[in-house]
Amino acid sequence: MSDPCILCVAITGSVPTKSANPAVPISVSEQIESTHEAFEAGAAICHAHVRNVDETPSSDPEKFAALKEGVEKHCPGMIIQFSTGGRSGAGQERGGMLPLRPDMASLSVGSNNFPTRVYENPPDLVAWLSGEMRTYEVTPEIEAFDLSHILHAIRLHDAGKLYGRLYVQFVMGVKNAMPADKTVFDFYVETMKARAPDAAWCAAGIGPAQIEVNEWAIAAGGHTRAGLEDNVRLDRDRLAPSNAALIRRAAELCEKYERPVATSAQAREILHLRPAA
Ligand SMILES: [Zn+2]
Repeated sequence: MSDPCILCVAITGSVPTKSANPAVPISVSEQIESTHEAFEAGAAICHAHVRNVDETPSSDPEKFAALKEGVEKHCPGMIIQFSTGGRSGAGQERGGMLPLRPDMASLSVGSNNFPTRVYENPPDLVAWLSGEMRTYEVTPEIEAFDLSHILHAIRLHDAGKLYGRLYVQFVMGVKNAMPADKTVFDFYVETMKARAPDAAWCAAGIGPAQIEVNEWAIAAGGHTRAGLEDNVRLDRDRLAPSNAALIRRAAELCEKYERPVATSAQAREILHLRPAA
């Protein structure tokens, strides 16, 4: 039996709206329900952004607090990971929810282009966010949109700037950033093995690349992410009916490659997180 695979569900994000897919959970209660369904389908991590009533992105710590409380209640043991991504706020606003002490938070350590703008992560903001994560004992998940982000994350980790075990996610398929390219993916994996042998890694594909990147990651022994934040479709013709449907599809790939789906307790162990509250 090979190593368990951690499935992360990216429930909402800051971009997709109900006009793209009515299953995208927007209100906190919809988010909790959608997370619960994905948890039952095998997701061990909930990666979350919050939204305003009009579906625009929010960075309101009160919404994050309500979501955390609901997920802890309805999905016992599930790992909660808040986004500090740049679409939900500007500057230090992006880390305003870290005092809530989620298990994890996403962290981008470099800049790149997004479909319609620059995704800015200046060094002073990265230093501030990673410092807040150390203060509140929040393990970062590094969002690597480029090879340079992986190498920089390893440097930051080696310098003691990142709390906990190094966990890097390769994000592939964002328009204007790194596409889902198998040769690049393989090089990312080799880079992690060679330069950060004690770290763990996962991968996410955007849009039609989701299923492909899920399969690459599972086959290569990593962990992976699925969900409506990254992709609202099952295939060219069908919308995904739920976050759970996308997690089920990843769980089927785990079966194909004989990887057990990690329980949240196993995932906490793999990522060196504290036991569930
Ligand atoms: Zn996100």
